[in-house]
Amino acid sequence: MALIQCPECNKDISDQAVACPQCAHPIKAVTIEATGKRWKGIQLICALFIIIGAFWAASNTQGGPAFGGILVAVGLIGFIVARLGAWWGHG
Ligand SMILES: [Zn+2]
Repeated sequence: MALIQCPECNKDISDQAVACPQCAHPIKAVTIEATGKRWKGIQLICALFIIIGAFWAASNTQGGPAFGGILVAVGLIGFIVARLGAWWGHG
């Protein structure tokens, strides 16, 4: 648990607080935004997996299509999980 500054009244408050006890400014919204950014980062990584996998599958590397297909599948699953996670965080 850490102390953060209320963006409204600059009072030190817990980062676990739903709202500032001083001015009732909502705090949790900031946390949810940060969570969304983390999921977006995961989505970006998964998108890279899909792109690299697609290129790998298209290349003539030995075992390329199979390995590329696995990369695309992992990327797709991760992407869906990240989408669900972001949605859950905003829920
Ligand atoms: Zn405040």
